[in-house]
Amino acid sequence: MPAESKVPFLDVGATYRELKVDINLAITRVLESGVFVQGEEVRLFENEFAEYTGANHCVGVGNGLEALRLALRAVGVATGDEVLVPSHTFIATWLAVTQCGATPVGIDTEPNGFNIDVQSIERAISSRTKAIVMVHLYGLPSPIDEILQIARRNNLMVVEDAAQAHGAVYQNRRIGSHSDIISWSFYPGKNLGAFGDGGAVTTNNAEFAERVRTESNYGSRLKYQHNILGTNSRLDPLQAAILRVKLQSLDAWNNRRRRVASHYIQELGLNSGSAYSQSAIRDSSWHLFVIETRERDQLRDFLAAQGIETLIHYPVPPHSQRAYGELHPGMRYLRTEQLASKVLSLPIGPHMEDAAVSSVVDAIQSSNLWDSN
Ligand SMILES: *Cc1c(COP(=O)(O)O)cnc(C)c1O
Repeated sequence: MPAESKVPFLDVGATYRELKVDINLAITRVLESGVFVQGEEVRLFENEFAEYTGANHCVGVGNGLEALRLALRAVGVATGDEVLVPSHTFIATWLAVTQCGATPVGIDTEPNGFNIDVQSIERAISSRTKAIVMVHLYGLPSPIDEILQIARRNNLMVVEDAAQAHGAVYQNRRIGSHSDIISWSFYPGKNLGAFGDGGAVTTNNAEFAERVRTESNYGSRLKYQHNILGTNSRLDPLQAAILRVKLQSLDAWNNRRRRVASHYIQELGLNSGSAYSQSAIRDSSWHLFVIETRERDQLRDFLAAQGIETLIHYPVPPHSQRAYGELHPGMRYLRTEQLASKVLSLPIGPHMEDAAVSSVVDAIQSSNLWDSN
């Protein structure tokens, strides 16, 4: 296969090439300002991202893991609590709970999709349960309203891990203010990615926002006055300035992702699955485009041989990782464990050309390794 027909999983450098002039100006502005921690750029990004997500408050932090940990602490998760989390997710969702001194209690995955199985939530609630974390996995919003109803009935807090859902829509509103508190990652490969680490928390609750702001800045609101034992997890002003530029293109980039996804859905016959439905009520950000197939490893090798790069999100669920297997032995989540051997993430991104999408579809169809069931 000649080099130019290679299809990378995601061209992370393409966003810089598209916005080079504006991003260089933003970087220069920060360097010349002499303000390298906190300051105006961070404040402006926080305002702009709050407006974009429809939230009353946004606090920039160091990365997505810290955003989730600080969000959990803001709603009161502490040592000894249990927190319900999806079992099919990136390990950060679990680690944030563990780092609060709490115990992550996994919930299996919905039968016809990839998000938390709402039907399994209520029977996992115990007297120690403090909160439910949902992850809008691959960019598709979880059923927030149903989860909020369960939570309110049982006096639990609700946290959204929106690391993959920048610009996704639920009930005609962008993700960012539907539940108690929402955590974001700006890891470079996310739909809104920095050129380094970054994260944020959004919420409509002023007190929660204040707690995140204080704890992320050494437990201090006034310099050298420390009210709690905080940490150092702040959004870098250089990253904030870059994110301000990129935020302006996010909707256009998501539209492009949507187009790639529609193409895959149609050509691969995926119309039946609820994970692939698109509507104004619940619309994915299409962070990842994931198919499920029994012959996953063979298909992945076949595509690799044609120069098409794919990834697996995620090959080993958190509860099966050595880090957690020894802490909580015997946990089983059947659908999640099946998915670990069946999911395959196809190339998708805001700069993927139609021809590249077609070449992925053609390769899959010629493989004899694909049936849409
Ligand atoms: C990327 C990601 C995170 C962690 O974000 P970092 O910025 O890498 O710490 C957390 N949760 C999910 C679902 C993610 O995809």
